Amino acid sequence: MFNNLTERLESAFKNLKGEARINDLNIANTVKDIRRALIDADVNYKIAKEFTDRVKEKATGEKVINAISPGQLMVKIVQDELTDLMGGTEATFDITGNPAVVLIAGLQGSGKTTFSGKLANYLKGQKKSPLLVAADIYRPAAIDQLKVLGEQINVEVYSEPETKDAVAIAQNAIKEAKTKNKNVVIIDTAGRLAIDEAMMTEVADIKTAVNPTEILFVVDSMTGQDAVNTAKAFNDRLNFSGVVLTKLDGDTRGGAALSIKYTVNKPIKFVSSGEKLDTLDVFYPDRMAQRILG
Ligand code: GDP
Repeated sequence: MFNNLTERLESAFKNLKGEARINDLNIANTVKDIRRALIDADVNYKIAKEFTDRVKEKATGEKVINAISPGQLMVKIVQDELTDLMGGTEATFDITGNPAVVLIAGLQGSGKTTFSGKLANYLKGQKKSPLLVAADIYRPAAIDQLKVLGEQINVEVYSEPETKDAVAIAQNAIKEAKTKNKNVVIIDTAGRLAIDEAMMTEVADIKTAVNPTEILFVVDSMTGQDAVNTAKAFNDRLNFSGVVLTKLDGDTRGGAALSIKYTVNKPIKFVSSGEKLDTLDVFYPDRMAQRILG
């Protein structure tokens, strides 16, 4: 994951090898390399610049301490800043309520349905009793896909193939959950290839009708800067509670992971790296920062 970014950062720090102490010149050179590495990883220029300005400021402030090597000092500063950029601490995931309602939104192909299955499986492992809801009224195949996933993990899937009203389906699903003692309702909504008004209105209407405890925006991390723009559009409309970054197992450069929190000020809550249903991971900014630094 993020191999290129990791290599580029490593080589930025390598240039400090043999330097006895940190000084304005070697800080400036390292910071420049770090900025280039971030921009090449698809981090927006402004974010990369602010990031490296902070790194520079911290390194300059510490240059007299000199207890550790310049390379180690820089790695530590960058690790702390990466952690902060991705949200600092682990975000909470609220599934209180009877039932708790989790609304899943995102573009088609982002990995929403797969994630819904993974989340249901994860919650089962936490001794919860989830109900999956297929609220895509446009693609019958989406209902079938969710049913197949539900069977694999032994979680019931609620659907109304004949109903052309996603809000009604979501409301009925919650009633169903109550009668069947399901305590978390996961609503997989329709996705489109691009953001469009009708889709946004529909998912916003579902939100108003069912008052979710969590609204998760699912985004394909492979889409780089587009991921961040899509996140902004969905957040403007839905004010979602968290982000799910999918396809981290692919050849993704890292820009989405690094920029989303900054851009929409919402935490990444889960990451998904694979199609198998048991690969859902809670997102920890500090661990991700460590992985990025190799
Ligand atoms: P949806 O249209 O948003 O519901 O997206 P799907 O869940 O159908 O996923 C679209 C495609 O991406 C499918 O072929 C999935 O198997 C695949 N996919 C979903 N999540 C991941 C992931 O984390 N890693 C990889 N490699 N593929 C994924």
